[in-house]
Amino acid sequence: MSSDFVAHLECAYTGEILEKGKPHTLSPSGMPLLVRYDLKSLANEISREEIENCSEPGFWRYSPLLPVTEEKFRISLGEVVTPLIPLNKSVEHLGLKAGSIIVKDESRLPTGSFKARGLCLAVSMAKQFGLEHLAIPTNGNAGSALAAYAARAGMKTTVLCPDNTPPINTSETLAQGGDTYLVNGLIGDCGKIIADGKQDLGWFAVSTLKEPYRIEGKKTMGLELAEQMGWDLPDVIFYPTGGGTGLIGMWKAFHEMLELGWIDCKLPRMVAVQSTGCAPMVKAWQEGSEHAEYWQDAETEASGIRVPAAIGDFLILRTVRESGGFAIAVSDEEIMAARDRVGREDGLLLCPEGAATYVAWENALAEGLVSKDDRIVLFNTATGLKYPLPEVTERIDQNLPFDASRFK
Ligand SMILES: *Cc1c(COP(=O)(O)O)cnc(C)c1O
Repeated sequence: MSSDFVAHLECAYTGEILEKGKPHTLSPSGMPLLVRYDLKSLANEISREEIENCSEPGFWRYSPLLPVTEEKFRISLGEVVTPLIPLNKSVEHLGLKAGSIIVKDESRLPTGSFKARGLCLAVSMAKQFGLEHLAIPTNGNAGSALAAYAARAGMKTTVLCPDNTPPINTSETLAQGGDTYLVNGLIGDCGKIIADGKQDLGWFAVSTLKEPYRIEGKKTMGLELAEQMGWDLPDVIFYPTGGGTGLIGMWKAFHEMLELGWIDCKLPRMVAVQSTGCAPMVKAWQEGSEHAEYWQDAETEASGIRVPAAIGDFLILRTVRESGGFAIAVSDEEIMAARDRVGREDGLLLCPEGAATYVAWENALAEGLVSKDDRIVLFNTATGLKYPLPEVTERIDQNLPFDASRFK
């Protein structure tokens, strides 16, 4: 399928319209840009059934709702439709039936995280525009996804990470051809260095929401979820929120599908999950503010959500409010305990960010913010294998006689 239903780009804050067909960063008012489609023409030309029956792999089946105009610009590493995995034993202690909580397991995507969706689209669009050198500030997963897709596209990448980024992330980035640097600061400090490089070295920055296409990639989580559920949606979505691309992207997808007539259900309540060590959206949501304040001394092992300031803060907060959802923070202690429980009892190794959504749901249930009858989807945004795991300390000496009492 090759198609171009993109109408224009629109400033998410002022509504100012910009023309398509050339690279864009932020809007003239310094705000994120959103891609707008000619949904009327799309609805006339392509039906939901055609999408269902098409043989395109993974999220490329939604290509009419994506900005890549020709197949030759698609940079692909085998994106898959990620599975919906019901939690069974790990929810029984709460008196829930097996299968009432579902995990959308994004760890199966290339580079082991859902960052692949966004960077796949950003790199494909960079290819379409003939860009050559991409740069990114990252807490880990975005950097490796960028490096992998850019290597595939034959582009250069410069990746700047805070120096406490999990070593596996920086190593995998390097191994996939990204010029990788550790910075003694946070992700915002990395972003400042990228801004200098843009000026002096001609880098094109693909920072979260500072170019318009990563969100189009993340949007496919919402499209995919709807199709997997038979063009229906859950009652509540728990999403680990850093820069917010996924939350904003899914909300955008739901509205596009409503307008296309692909769905006619009630939209889910969107829950932004953060860490108590970095919870700018939770604070802003509680205070009723439109924007969030910078979070000082951000610290959490869930590095994907260690984002002290997000340029799309107003879009995250708008989505949470419009959807009747809420923002909630959980501690690293709770996160690690949840990761261990779900791994041990259900055989599903969540990443800390994914485990955060499990804790948030558990706490929300206890506080009456959600009910036992709600159909819940949690997002596991990366593979648990990328993070430090418990060490094995038990040793067996093969030269000693067998001792049954040593085993459980
Ligand atoms: C980036 C990241 C997040 C946050 O995603 P946003 O859509 O930017 O809010 C959550 N989890 C993991 C594992 C990540 O890498």
